[in-house]
Amino acid sequence: MDVKISYGNGIGMKLNGETILFDPKVSDFISFISHAHFDHTPYEIITKPYCTEETFELIKVRKPEFEANLVKIGKHINFDNFSVEFLSSGHMLGSAQIFIETKNSSILYTGDFKMSESLTCEKIEIRNADILILESTFGFPGINFPNLENVRKELISWVEEQLKKGYLINLGGYPIGKAQEIIAILNKNKILPRISLSIKKYSEIYKKFGIKLKFEENSNVSVKPINVISSIKSKNCKNCVLSGWTLLKDFGTFGLPLSDHSDFNQILDFVQQVKPKKVYCVHGYTKELAYAIEKKLKIPSYPLSRIQQKSLLEFKI
Ligand SMILES: [Zn+2]
Repeated sequence: MDVKISYGNGIGMKLNGETILFDPKVSDFISFISHAHFDHTPYEIITKPYCTEETFELIKVRKPEFEANLVKIGKHINFDNFSVEFLSSGHMLGSAQIFIETKNSSILYTGDFKMSESLTCEKIEIRNADILILESTFGFPGINFPNLENVRKELISWVEEQLKKGYLINLGGYPIGKAQEIIAILNKNKILPRISLSIKKYSEIYKKFGIKLKFEENSNVSVKPINVISSIKSKNCKNCVLSGWTLLKDFGTFGLPLSDHSDFNQILDFVQQVKPKKVYCVHGYTKELAYAIEKKLKIPSYPLSRIQQKSLLEFKI
């Protein structure tokens, strides 16, 4: 198999002479969209990309003219020299890994992925692959999240404590994925939050695909986009940011590390289960993660970063 991988317009791959793009900014050739977050979706469509129906509907909320070929998780799509299957990535509603098989080899592009179980999307499916193109957002040694169930409990006990003291609560998260996860945690504990309009639009898509989310207008708990939280300075309010980045970054307010990504140890666990022959690290701590995978797991690993976007890493297996 002849494979070349590069980074620039998303992740580019030449597979037996065919051009394939993962999460490109300009969707051309054969393109695959892993999920609906802004940094993974195209701003220009030349040829229609492939994505799940959930991803399609979520992207259309902010980009009504978006077009795509719809793919079901677990169903094969056949091309001349290879087949493609979308596998759940556990990151958010509709998020998928893209698994490519040729006659004698396989490639897995993870997109963003989460090893721990979510309340609002399917659990990740792990498949063996020869070449792994791996998300590296939190791939720095030592970045490890606390137990997820404990973070959820801590959030609820903090909310209940502040409500008892008479405060209004503002919880901040990304409007797609994290906000719905926050609503689901609150609902599980019989709290119905108020939500902002942008979050409501995306939450309605979640509900359309069977995720039960309840909210109400008159609530003392609000779920808002993460970027507005630190600017709320009212004496009557208590604010909390929910993001894995709270471990590394000061948001200027209280925060809890509720993440839709995998931490460093979970990424290594994932790689061990995929059993790849080569790994390419993209998005985030690419160099550090590639180094750690080589050192700890003895698997040849390479960072793909924008600095290298003009170079092609080439190999044959
Ligand atoms: Zn994402």
